[in-house]
Amino acid sequence: MACVSFPYDAPVSQTLFDRASLVTPGGVNSPVRAFRAVGGTPRFMVSGTGPYLTDADGREYVDLVCSWGPMILGHSHPEVIAAVQEAVARGTSFGTPGEGEVALAEEIVARVEPVEQVRLVSSGTEATMSAIRLARGFTGRAKIVKFAGCYHGHVDALLAAAGSGVATFGLPDTPGVTGAQAGDTIVVPYNDLDAVRAAFAAQPGEIACVITEASPGNMGVVPPLDGFNAGLKEICAANGALYISDEVMTGFRTSKAGWFGVDGVRPDLMTFGKVMGGGFPAAAFGGRADVMAHLAPAGPVYQAGTLSGNPVATAAGLAQLRLLDDAAYTKLDAVSAELRGLVSGALAKEGVAHTVQAASNMFSVFFTDRPVRDYEDAKRQEAFRFTAFFHSMLAQGVYLPPSAFESWFVSTAHDTRAVERIAAALPAAARAASEATA
Ligand code: PLP
Repeated sequence: MACVSFPYDAPVSQTLFDRASLVTPGGVNSPVRAFRAVGGTPRFMVSGTGPYLTDADGREYVDLVCSWGPMILGHSHPEVIAAVQEAVARGTSFGTPGEGEVALAEEIVARVEPVEQVRLVSSGTEATMSAIRLARGFTGRAKIVKFAGCYHGHVDALLAAAGSGVATFGLPDTPGVTGAQAGDTIVVPYNDLDAVRAAFAAQPGEIACVITEASPGNMGVVPPLDGFNAGLKEICAANGALYISDEVMTGFRTSKAGWFGVDGVRPDLMTFGKVMGGGFPAAAFGGRADVMAHLAPAGPVYQAGTLSGNPVATAAGLAQLRLLDDAAYTKLDAVSAELRGLVSGALAKEGVAHTVQAASNMFSVFFTDRPVRDYEDAKRQEAFRFTAFFHSMLAQGVYLPPSAFESWFVSTAHDTRAVERIAAALPAAARAASEATA
């Protein structure tokens, strides 16, 4: 880790972190929140409004994490809050079908053309886990192909060479996943169609599916090369396997119809989460009706959930999706482009080697001057420079993802004032990055 000093300016967060560390492993409920990749005190947030978060010490930050994607309208959007209040007043969970989940499913089906039927779940992890099970049940095959650096949640079979927290901590794998659970997972380099073809050639008739992030954001933002997703679809179709596009991060963020709305490649199954929950635990998987018909109770592949389609979560998600019109995406793209220009300009001025990569309004900054096309490229960046950059931005009231291997997220609430605050922080952060040593 780089030599960075952390001004001890978050005493209340530090006290809360000390308390949390006694009762919760590592003090957090999801590893990347612990700041281990960058060091220092994780900020405990108490409230959020528009593009701002306020921590337990009373400091305000411009938020470029947006809860890792979901808060696409900013925090506490009045119409989302009103929908939640209205729903919660009617009760929080019934364990029966309800109209809200039908409406949310209809909204997803209307937006994303390849989704003919959809099943609601509570997390992205559940969505990818269930989609893989369904693909195996549908094809009667065991093996799956995934890409190094792509993260699909903490599903046992998918925790091989995953990005996100696993990339951050450099763990090649995780204890607790057995050889049997990981043994049917074939990991290949991202953006490498020849490697996918070779995997199919080596295991004829055994591969159930290829799962890929529609446009990866969990090793930093590494968009698919031209024709890559179309190539995956073609290889899957030629070999009787399903093409699963994981849109948990990109879904309803990179366009009205997510990454499908950008590249138009039609997956057999898709997974969603984050934006569609409006900040609540709601996620989904869906796709071809003939495949989805294999799910219980229509078919034999079991899948279930006590809180699936929860009325409060579905009300929040529906309210958020209905506000995400064309104008919202135009705004997100414009804010993202402006920030990318500002960050790149500041780093260039200090002579810091960097590459800014974007997928619609998602973007990230790699501290290398070479394009990043796969996980190995991403790992070659000078991550110690990010550490210095991150802490300078944090000290100046800008909250970035606490890892060099994550996407930055904007919201429609990021207005001129918020952008100006980020712009004002960048020169010092760029200087800190340039002066950082490994
Ligand atoms: N798939 C992708 C592409 C993700 O980015 C994530 C989470 O970041 C997941 C799946 C898992 O979602 P969750 O954290 O809701 O389980």
